[in-house]
Amino acid sequence: TNLPQSLVHMLRQQADERANDEAVVALDGERLTFAQVWQRAAQVAGGLREAGLQPGDRAAIMLPAGVDWVLALWGCLLAGVVAVPINTRFAPPEIDYVLDDSGAAYVFAPGEPLPRGAATAVEPQPGDLAAIFYTSGTTGKPKGALTTHEAFLSNCESMLRGTPREERPSGDAYRTLISVPLFHVTGCNSQLLTSMYAGGTSVIMPTLDVGRLIAELSRERISFMVTVPAVYAMMLAHPTLQTADLSTVIRCGYGGAPIAPDLVHRIKAAFPNAQVSNGFGMTETASLLTSLPDDKAAEHADSVGYQVPVVDLALYLADPQTGVGELLVRGPNITTGYWNKPEQTRDAFIDGWLRTGDMARVAEDGKVYVVDRAKDLINRGGENVYSVEVENALAGAPGVFESAVIAVPNERLGEAVGAVLVPPPGGHIDPVAVTDYLSGRIADFKIPQYIHVRNEPLPRNPGGKILKAPLRRETQWGDQVR
Ligand code: ATP
Ligand code: MG
Repeated sequence: TNLPQSLVHMLRQQADERANDEAVVALDGERLTFAQVWQRAAQVAGGLREAGLQPGDRAAIMLPAGVDWVLALWGCLLAGVVAVPINTRFAPPEIDYVLDDSGAAYVFAPGEPLPRGAATAVEPQPGDLAAIFYTSGTTGKPKGALTTHEAFLSNCESMLRGTPREERPSGDAYRTLISVPLFHVTGCNSQLLTSMYAGGTSVIMPTLDVGRLIAELSRERISFMVTVPAVYAMMLAHPTLQTADLSTVIRCGYGGAPIAPDLVHRIKAAFPNAQVSNGFGMTETASLLTSLPDDKAAEHADSVGYQVPVVDLALYLADPQTGVGELLVRGPNITTGYWNKPEQTRDAFIDGWLRTGDMARVAEDGKVYVVDRAKDLINRGGENVYSVEVENALAGAPGVFESAVIAVPNERLGEAVGAVLVPPPGGHIDPVAVTDYLSGRIADFKIPQYIHVRNEPLPRNPGGKILKAPLRRETQWGDQVR
């Protein structure tokens, strides 16, 4: 495909062609057209330059989701400054780590006006660094993935499934609601930048409020909804969903974490006009690697779908029996490495392929099944148990609202299967009823031998992912249940 030379070229074209179309809307805030985004971002860029920043310098964006966040990002891009979006929910030492690691020379901080100067805009090359996105830190310390203009733009194309420019939904037909963080690639790239690339509108929620999210779908005539499984689960449990008008929504995307097939069926049933689709991706891949289209979503809900056209997939050291190996990927959307981390960069690649850290198998027709993260696999006496498979089975178990399956150190087996189970508010879980339910649904050796009932929500990161490391450290297991 003919990608624009850079994100800057893309925005300039939209500002010319769709000057007065709504580009970015912040709920409770401003509504900006494409021309306004360009003009104001060019002034921010000028302000950064007047503050002494040179192309290639880093600027950290530590703002809440909203119009200023978007202008800070575009200000950096137009100045040739590398944007470093920061997770606003980080604690001070975590923020210090990212500021320090990235060597940010400037910080966009809340409560301070955006820098302003004479309008300016650089002309980046496709391979120029546009941003450093830190990974979610689900399995360790966040790492800064180098993201180029080309990586961003090829992901926008992937999100639009390579639809020719004239045929893409735009304007009123493309209105996306951003309820996930802008400091991760899903919100920033697969939603904000993709909708700007298509000529649509991004509606930004300042903070996640599920009742409001439901109400805004019809109020803002949202056509594309994208969020993580945890948010869909909250929406479906919300009392206003039953009576809400969800008719404007024609696509429900989900991803970022494994989804229970049961939840996919419930999303499909709740949104009368929506096609649903799973999207699998990583920070290191500027977002999308595979997607599962609507016609397969219900029947193959445990799959993440087919590789998007720009990427190649391969499996590393696949087990001849199960076909499961570590997923390797390469393509124009994939990071060239981690900022400031030569060793981890070296370890992350094999012959130019990025190691995803995810264990997967590929069906004959190309459908990809991500079975677990390599780090979450449980090795039960030599038998591999995929935590995700057990969690999916637990999703239907009596009284189970959410679950996390993790390894429990065991003298005899090395690792035993443990489940941390959370009941709904006011609910109750009977571990025996749970194991009875699982029996016959999954193999005996996969059924948790340890069950801990937890009366508070599971620890999650802002992307809604369950943090298993603290659960492994802190869970007080009682006696074996079986
Ligand atoms: P860190 O790399 O710092 O430990 P992280 O891997 O959670 O954190 P992200 O880049 O935000 O950081 O997440 C990418 C990971 O999320 C993938 O490697 C995969 O494990 C998981 N993931 C993303 N989308 C899906 C999906 N649709 N289904 C299953 N898992 C998914
Ligand atoms: Mg990761």
